[in-house]
Amino acid sequence: MNKHVSIASGDWLAGAEALQGETIALRRAIHEEPELGLHTPRTMEKVKAALAGLPLELKEGPSTTGLVAILRGAKPGRTVLLRGDMDALPMPEDTDLSFKSKIAGAMHACGHDTHTAMLASAAKLLCAKRDHLAGNVLFMFQPGEEGWHGAKFMMNDGLLDDPAPDAAFALHIMPNAPAGLFTAKAGPMMASSDTINIRVRGKGGHASMPHDTVDPIPVACEIVTALQSFVTRRINAFDPAVITIAKIEAGSTSNVIPEAAYLLGTVRTVSEATRTIAHEGIERVAKHVAEAHLCEAEVDIVHGFPVTVCDARAVSVAQRAIGAGFGEAAWRTMPAPIMGAEDFSYVLQKTPGVMVFLGVCPEGQDWRGACPCHSNKMVLNEDMMARGVAAHCLIAEHFLESGFD
Ligand SMILES: [Zn+2]
Ligand SMILES: [Zn+2]
Repeated sequence: MNKHVSIASGDWLAGAEALQGETIALRRAIHEEPELGLHTPRTMEKVKAALAGLPLELKEGPSTTGLVAILRGAKPGRTVLLRGDMDALPMPEDTDLSFKSKIAGAMHACGHDTHTAMLASAAKLLCAKRDHLAGNVLFMFQPGEEGWHGAKFMMNDGLLDDPAPDAAFALHIMPNAPAGLFTAKAGPMMASSDTINIRVRGKGGHASMPHDTVDPIPVACEIVTALQSFVTRRINAFDPAVITIAKIEAGSTSNVIPEAAYLLGTVRTVSEATRTIAHEGIERVAKHVAEAHLCEAEVDIVHGFPVTVCDARAVSVAQRAIGAGFGEAAWRTMPAPIMGAEDFSYVLQKTPGVMVFLGVCPEGQDWRGACPCHSNKMVLNEDMMARGVAAHCLIAEHFLESGFD
């Protein structure tokens, strides 16, 4: 017999549907006024307005406009963290939405507007069930996900220390996935993401007399191809890395050999071991190829987010919660990691948890062809936001009731 009698499974979606008007209104208000980086004051105001009057303790830290709202259940118990990120991307929006961005060069193209709105509505629903809850729910409203390490700053500010979460869950929308489908996987699910800077120094001179110079351009090109050989020959195919040199800069005109060439790129891995091997290899290959041609290579690899590793027990909690609320067909285990990166990885380094993707393909479109996150044409199916709100509640409820059992 199941000793964990669910408070309200099935009711959560009805509750979320009843709040759908508010959820969409908040999402659209945030979408219209996107903010970048660690400081998103206007978004924070909107979140605080949405949470006003709820039985929540609010905690803020000095480093960001991040907010942790604590709901203490009527009885003591475990603590579960639910996270929504709040920041937008520095890019123009090219959609026909009536609520498209009013801020030039900023767009909510990663769906963080929906994450924030769904989390605010989940807070409302869970607060309404406070008398039935044993334990605490932490609602983490986080800025600075898009490369700014916002989660790490909030953790360093001590916002997740008291009460400390026993498990952590996040939702991320995915427009190029079937609407309403939830996916995640145990183990590495998203990649580490580090930036590669290589400066190849030679000796400039006349383009007609290269022997009197040390031309850095063919050396830079050789480094690009040597890095691809490095990846295929030195990295285990079952613990992969991706190295992409995305920018090459050198020279100014047709008859001058420049002093230096500059390469900029990214390296992605799904294990810390391969991350280390890749970093060492990039430096070794660049320096030695340069040296072979009498150039000098300076290599600087800037650490981005770590690998996002999901806890198998947390994945199972999420899968069971989603199955209970929407039926087993609503869950699909992701077959392989994706090479995108997430700063929820910092939270998951400390607390077992999972980030779950929610398919939000626009109605009438084939999800395979839908514009993905980070596209300036990205649009989504807002109807699915009620499912996201309910999923937050279902997962929190399941974890508070049963933990990782
Ligand atoms: Zn993003
Ligand atoms: Zn995102």
